[in-house]
Amino acid sequence: MHEFELIRQIFRDAGYARPQGAVAHSIGDDCALLNVPTGQQLAVSTDSLLEGVHFPAGTDSFLLGQRALAVAVSDLAAMGATPIAFTLALSLPQADVDWLRGFSRGLEVMAHKTAITLVGGDTTRGPLNIGLTVMGTVPAGQALLRSTAQPGQQLWVSGPLGAAAAALRVLDGSCVIDETTSAALLASYWTPEPQLRLGQWLLGRGAAVLDVSDGLLADAGHLATESGVQVVIEQALVPVSSAASVLSAEQALSWALTGGDDYQLVFSLSADQAVALQEQFPAASRIGYVCTGQGVLLLDGQGQVVGVERAGYQHF
Ligand code: ADP
Ligand code: MG
Repeated sequence: MHEFELIRQIFRDAGYARPQGAVAHSIGDDCALLNVPTGQQLAVSTDSLLEGVHFPAGTDSFLLGQRALAVAVSDLAAMGATPIAFTLALSLPQADVDWLRGFSRGLEVMAHKTAITLVGGDTTRGPLNIGLTVMGTVPAGQALLRSTAQPGQQLWVSGPLGAAAAALRVLDGSCVIDETTSAALLASYWTPEPQLRLGQWLLGRGAAVLDVSDGLLADAGHLATESGVQVVIEQALVPVSSAASVLSAEQALSWALTGGDDYQLVFSLSADQAVALQEQFPAASRIGYVCTGQGVLLLDGQGQVVGVERAGYQHF
């Protein structure tokens, strides 16, 4: 059997590639076929993960499969969409069956958690590169956008930040820490939880939303720019990962503000929704507010401006 035929077979036979729900036709033909119910829109997002840029060479393929799909599905969560299907564009230096089986098991765990089905892909030879396109449905006209924040709204984040940035220091060996803390940090890095339930809860509540991939300040900056408003963040209200604080009490706050990779949702919401939100999502924290103006303002405990620049990770 041709080695790429073998690869296609591994994915075609996987449990998470079986047609179900909105997936009428899965892997095997020239296209997959999806049913989009009347009154719904299809939300689509693509992510590429390149070895040496987005993950270190030699990364365990099971962890990679899990994280790659979680990161992609997080974009669906940030739109309030319900996942239905994904495709996989895989570039591989060679067909290593053990690597592929591990990667597929990683995809399987996350596909099961997020109820998404693999419906197709493409396989080529080249440097290791993983391209995932995820699709989901959202009630027509109701998707959560970055551009709808209103002065007077509060600013919220769905959970603690900074663990992923701290985990990268453990992974590259620049920080050393006890086993329990390091396990907690690595778990949050390798298995981010797409905030699907929260995204769906926010539908119809007037929220502007995005997921924190570049860092809180940078992503809050995107929300401010797209909405034409100013976002004020009170530093003392930002929830910092307790494991990151154990690793470095001095650095944890800066990881939480600029680290990225945590895949929490940051969103604006009117104050009258706050009680209902906290009841359903106790891990969410109010971190500031939206006002007229532009950009992001970071305030210290005395209400003094700490910094106004976006400081997230940028590729270029
Ligand atoms: P085509 O030449 O029409 O692109 P391929 O031979 O590339 O067809 O693929 C055959 C089938 O296998 C298609 O349904 C495609 O979606 C699927 N496929 C190929 N590679 C992958 C992959 N890495 N993951 C999932 N499905 C794949
Ligand atoms: Mg093809």
